[in-house]
Amino acid sequence: SLSDKLDSALHVLKGHGQITEVNVAETLKEVRRALVDADVNYKIAKEFTNTVKEKALGQNVLTALKPGQLMVKLVKDELTQLMGGDAEGIDLSGNPSVILMSGLQGSGKTTFSGKLANYLKTKKSKNPLLVACDVYRPAAINQLHVVGEQIGVEVFSDEGNQDPVAISKAAIAHAKQNGNNVVIIDTAGRLAIDEAMMTEIANIHRAIEPNETLFVVDSMTGQDAVNTAKAFNERLNFDGVILTKLDGDTRGGAAISIKSVVDKPIKFIGTGEKMDAIDVFYPSRMADRILGMGDVVSLVERAQEQYDEEEARKLQKKIAKNEFGFDDFLNQLQQIKKMGSMKDLMGMIPGAGKMLKDVDIDDDAFKHIEAIIHSMTPEERSKPSLINASRKKRIGKGSGTSVQQVNQLLKQFNQMSKMMKMMQGGGGRKMMQMMKN
Ligand code: GDP
Ligand code: MG
Repeated sequence: SLSDKLDSALHVLKGHGQITEVNVAETLKEVRRALVDADVNYKIAKEFTNTVKEKALGQNVLTALKPGQLMVKLVKDELTQLMGGDAEGIDLSGNPSVILMSGLQGSGKTTFSGKLANYLKTKKSKNPLLVACDVYRPAAINQLHVVGEQIGVEVFSDEGNQDPVAISKAAIAHAKQNGNNVVIIDTAGRLAIDEAMMTEIANIHRAIEPNETLFVVDSMTGQDAVNTAKAFNERLNFDGVILTKLDGDTRGGAAISIKSVVDKPIKFIGTGEKMDAIDVFYPSRMADRILGMGDVVSLVERAQEQYDEEEARKLQKKIAKNEFGFDDFLNQLQQIKKMGSMKDLMGMIPGAGKMLKDVDIDDDAFKHIEAIIHSMTPEERSKPSLINASRKKRIGKGSGTSVQQVNQLLKQFNQMSKMMKMMQGGGGRKMMQMMKN
């Protein structure tokens, strides 16, 4: 991956106390190669490394105290710059605000339409309307209805009507009547750019004058993504880019190239097939991710989002009174699980990315633990000290685990209780604080 390649390219600098001009040039050559390998356009990669080199020389990298760190920072800042400044939102000022999706078939338009509707509904208290304008495939209309049902958002469609402009107009009128303050128009795409598709989307664009036209692109398509972005931008002059499928092999190449070719902000990223797999795009975080520094900020944010303050207070009281039991333990496990898959979470920890390649983290790792706890009586759960040898045997049998596994869990529990006792007065919040610092 790009991260690994950059890692080894920068390794030279990180390890050395001394840098020579040759050293800088060689390292930047490696950086350039890594970027090109990750589908960054060659010209862009070259410009990039030239800029970094100039800055490096300007800042006297050669005589700096920690040249490696300075170089990493320069590369990171420059990458961030290349992908855009601060995160940009979408225009929700209209009533309704009309958002038009564009992009090739399979890029993720329909999925993202649903994600965006869900995001606006749950995070921005909007009342969105999804509009099915992929008039050629009945299955596509159905797909949007399924998505709408999943997230509890109304879907406007007119099966049999072959005119997407008419459908869009009718949908906007419907929204005005029904108090939908956002209208998200999902359109048809083809497998490759063709005149008919371009004319159709351009016609819709002209007719409804959307507040926001978004170009949706599959980040795995690499160099092709750049050409597609260019073609759509020439016709639509779109407002922002949506990078989908950034959950797989996290290649930042497309992000870097698209941004530098069309000069439009990347607004959101899609990181999975589920409706909540949507994130605001932050250039600096993306740069971190590309550089393999791990997206710690995202991790902390997600953890905080899922952390229930009220629960935290209750838990604190219990710990203080020595009443922390297995029910609470189970609760904590469930909190952790809510944050996402273990692999996702671990992937955001700096340095962990490499480790994970060889280790397969089993999301079911908790299953045994849960089974054991479920086999305990309520009394045992609140007072684990009751669990003697014969009870251990019974619990093992009931949960389909061994006495050893039960013992191991009891040991872990004791350690955790001790740790929590030590952190008393702060509880989970203190742990979060520690993560932030
Ligand atoms: P459309 O033809 O542009 O409407 O594309 P769809 O929304 O139908 O998506 C095409 C396929 O990509 C579907 O199987 C989606 O589940 C999948 N997909 C969309 N976005 C993502 C994403 O962010 N991550 C992953 N892994 N799959 C995605
Ligand atoms: Mg679709």
